[in-house]
Amino acid sequence: SAPARAPVAFPASLAPAVGGPGLFATIDTLADLDGFDPAHVDGVGLVRTEFLFTHAAEALSEERHLAVYRRLLAALGGKPVTLRLLDLGGDKALPGLAEGDPAAVLGLRGVRFLLAHPDLARIQARALMRAAALGPLSVLLPMVTVPAELEAMALLFEEEAARLARQGVEARLPPLGIMVEVPAAALTLDLFPQAAFFSVGTNDLMQYLAAAARDNPAVAPLCAGAETAMFRLLDHICASARALGRPVSLCGDLAARPEAAGRLRALGFDGLSVPPGQIEAVRAALAGAAPNSPPGRG
Ligand code: PEP
Ligand code: MG
Repeated sequence: SAPARAPVAFPASLAPAVGGPGLFATIDTLADLDGFDPAHVDGVGLVRTEFLFTHAAEALSEERHLAVYRRLLAALGGKPVTLRLLDLGGDKALPGLAEGDPAAVLGLRGVRFLLAHPDLARIQARALMRAAALGPLSVLLPMVTVPAELEAMALLFEEEAARLARQGVEARLPPLGIMVEVPAAALTLDLFPQAAFFSVGTNDLMQYLAAAARDNPAVAPLCAGAETAMFRLLDHICASARALGRPVSLCGDLAARPEAAGRLRALGFDGLSVPPGQIEAVRAALAGAAPNSPPGRG
């Protein structure tokens, strides 16, 4: 029989309204593990797996994936780790598999790329399910636009889970959540009851909301100017996630800006995931923004 589905590991155990959002680390490379003390965070909120592999042969090796995921879980010592499926295409390249192509920002990237390359997706899914048997691991799908993409990826995981079971390989179906970084998804979270959790990617969400490339300094002021639109959408996202009873966190660069911590806390996010170098600044800002903190701080 197929392996049992693991309970949601991230971050359902946290109590947002009372204690404020949990604080999670964002990891791009294994070297980032040296930048923080796992004892001082609630877990890892985002692993950008596309940066863990330097060339196609690595990314096509199930054993290589598994070795890296094992190391991440071991380093976190039992705390939850949320890994994102390869977000290839667009600005993110992996030599031999996907070349960097700014035009693909509106094309085959993220989950679209993976569904177009199911052999690659199956390798990563198998390794993630084998790792999920070893610790609290959740999986995020990048660039989801419509529910059919989540349904197709969930089916792919279930097929590989059944295959692993037939092969006698220990594995577990992890909770599958989606990145909320495409406006169409952000406005329709109620159509995603199959998602175990949500994580907002404000870097891409802002790029698509303001029609302003995230890496083009000439249009950077538009992203600042569109902040009102962004916060209205964040409010809608948090309310929709609450209505569905699903945890919602924020893992875009906005989470790492201490001056935004008070507003993000007030919106009711369950977790913020930030690069190791920003963890302490965001922690201090969240503490300053707590309802019972002394006036004049945060
Ligand atoms: C985002 O888009 O905000 C995000 C967290 O993903 P990435 O920066 O890797 O595109
Ligand atoms: Mg993104």
